[in-house]
Amino acid sequence: FGDLVPLSTDVSSPEIDLAAVREEYAALAAEGLRLDLTRGKPSPQQLDLANGLLSLPGGDDFKAADGTDCRNYGGLAGLPELREIFAGPLQVPAAQLLALGNASLTLMHDVIAHALLSKVPGAERRWVDEPEVLFLCPVPGYDRHFALCERFGIGMVPVPLTGEGPDLDAVEALVAADARIKGMWCVPKYSNPSGESYSDETVRRLAAMPTAAPDFRLFWDNAYAVHHLTDKPVELLSILDACAEAGNPDRAFVFGSTSKISHAGAGVAFFGSSAANTAWLSGLLAKQTIGPDKLNQLRHVRFFGDAEGVLAHMELHRELLEPRFAAVYEVLDRELGALGIASWTRPEGGYFVSLEVPDGCAAEVVRLAKEVGVALTPAGAAFPGGNDPRDHHIRLAPSYPTVDEVHRAMRAVAVCVKLAAAEAAAK
Ligand code: PMP
Repeated sequence: FGDLVPLSTDVSSPEIDLAAVREEYAALAAEGLRLDLTRGKPSPQQLDLANGLLSLPGGDDFKAADGTDCRNYGGLAGLPELREIFAGPLQVPAAQLLALGNASLTLMHDVIAHALLSKVPGAERRWVDEPEVLFLCPVPGYDRHFALCERFGIGMVPVPLTGEGPDLDAVEALVAADARIKGMWCVPKYSNPSGESYSDETVRRLAAMPTAAPDFRLFWDNAYAVHHLTDKPVELLSILDACAEAGNPDRAFVFGSTSKISHAGAGVAFFGSSAANTAWLSGLLAKQTIGPDKLNQLRHVRFFGDAEGVLAHMELHRELLEPRFAAVYEVLDRELGALGIASWTRPEGGYFVSLEVPDGCAAEVVRLAKEVGVALTPAGAAFPGGNDPRDHHIRLAPSYPTVDEVHRAMRAVAVCVKLAAAEAAAK
């Protein structure tokens, strides 16, 4: 969990006056709150930052750098100049980076569907012809990744995160022994929801580990590649370089998008990989589409200009996000810091704070919060099947509400944590 506040989560010793906290809770109920910390959506102010896009490319600007008429069909790989801009941030050479539709989740969905129906490079069989397909799922993780596995009947094997990526001893043992394991979800930077980033050692070992399945793939979802919250951006090791150096050039499928850079749902999604994998996907994409929305890609080119433009834009996002995260820490530190009943992350980027409460209390905290008008992500959502075996993890998403709303919502959350912990201890 990275930078966890080092507190115990021992429920037997909280210095909480149950009667007093019940009163606090009753007072909250009387406030008639209506607050929402559920999903990691950009706030309207963040979206405003990219309003320039709404009038681009504009006028009679529809020609790409090579003269391509972006109003017409074609250009399956996406605009070369947009691929150049995002090659650096996504750590994929532009020649191996495809700029495609509006959502990386769609790409992940389609890549799995293609792998089921068409042999990936190096595969002996299509995945649909395997008796069983399993994916490793670092937890806590992104619920929509798990939903994709469910949709395709792919079994999920949870593996713990350590603060610098997944527990590699566990991962290596599993993939070496079990050829049913064909994939692994990775959010390598400012992970959703733990906020952690994979260390160089983690990236190298994932790239190099022997796998029983010859067609094992890392689903490298670099959704938060440039979403820094500090002055010292995390520098991830390039997974494609590491895989190539380890002699496993086809191991990683890289995904990314501008969803939380420009306009969510109206951005551009990217797929990057080895030349062989990129050719494999392009061949299949050619059956799916005659080409992506190049006008949308062109306006992104005009808006950002270059990779520096993207990074400068992300600084503006940071200015809006930082006070919201600060509000989360301020309230948690003040209300729970001395009690030893909860711990939380202070991520260096991304969109989430992970809150750990005493075992058996997370669902109760979420229920109590809902009763007083504060919507939290369902407890367990960050685990396959929605099942947090310890019922102790809550994902907080402070990006969308105003700073004042984050304060008020977090105060309510803190009271709910105290109440749930004190009730559990009193049992
Ligand atoms: N991956 C992760 C890890 C995310 O957190 C999100 C957004 N919540 C996505 C993918 C979705 O990205 P897109 O909008 O490109 O589908």
